[in-house]
Amino acid sequence: MTTLIRLADVERFYQAGPTRTYVLRRVNLEIRQGEFLTIMGPSGAGKSTLLSILGMLDSSWTGEYHFLDEAVHPLPQKKRVELNKRYIGFVFQKYHLIDDLTVYENLEIPLSYRDVKSKERAAIVAETLDRFQMVGKKDLYPSQLSGGQQQLVGVARAVIASPQLLLADEPTGNLHSAQGEEIMELFSRLNGQGTTIVQVTHSERNASYGHRTIQLRDGWIVGSE
Ligand code: ADP
Repeated sequence: MTTLIRLADVERFYQAGPTRTYVLRRVNLEIRQGEFLTIMGPSGAGKSTLLSILGMLDSSWTGEYHFLDEAVHPLPQKKRVELNKRYIGFVFQKYHLIDDLTVYENLEIPLSYRDVKSKERAAIVAETLDRFQMVGKKDLYPSQLSGGQQQLVGVARAVIASPQLLLADEPTGNLHSAQGEEIMELFSRLNGQGTTIVQVTHSERNASYGHRTIQLRDGWIVGSE
C-alpha cells in the first residue's frame, strides 16, 4: 500500500521564559493509505498535539511532514489550511462547533470548502442528518444540544465531505455505549471504503477497530503493535 503520511523527527515544544518543555520528541511515523491507526497513552502524553499536527492545525513544530506527495513542513499556514479543507475531516474532543450556526449550517461548511453545488449540498446534508438521526435537531444551535448530541454533530461534520483522512480525538467520549459502537461501526465502514483513519482513544474497545496502535509516553512513541 502507498504511504499517505510520513513524519520524520517531528518535535513540538512550549517555551515559557527560558524554559522549553517538549511535548513531542523525535516522532517518526508512517501511515499507509487505507490504514486505521490508534494513538493511545496517558493524559498529557502528546496525543492531541500529534493529531493537531497531522491535521495541519498546528504549525509550531520542527521536523518533516510529507502528505501524499507534498512536503508540508515548508508550506505557509495558508497552504496547510487548504490541504486540511480539501483532504481532512477532524473530530475534536471538545466538538468545536460554530456557536452561531445551526446544526444544518455547521454540516454545510465542509461541503462549501469542496465546491459542492448548493442543490447537491442540500441532498448530502439531508442524508447525513437522517443517518445520524438528527433531522429534528437541524435548526437548533449547538448550545441547545447535549454534549453527546454535539459530539454526534462533530462526527457528522467530519465525515460529511468524504475526507481522504479522518482524524478523531476521543470521538465517542461523550456518547453512551450503543452510540459509541455505531460511530465505530461507521468508521469501520468508511475505512473499508478507503478512508484512512487516525483516532486517539483511551478505550481498548475502540482501539480494537483499528489495525495498529501506537503508544505515546511523555511525547515519545514507546510502542507499536
Ligand atoms: P494528551 O492529548 O495526550 O492528553 P496533549 O497533546 O493535550 O496530551 O498535551 C501534551 C502536553 O502539552 C501536556 O503536558 C500539556 O500540558 C502541554 N500543553 C498543551 N498545550 C499547551 C500550552 N498551550 N502551553 C503549554 N503546554 C501545553
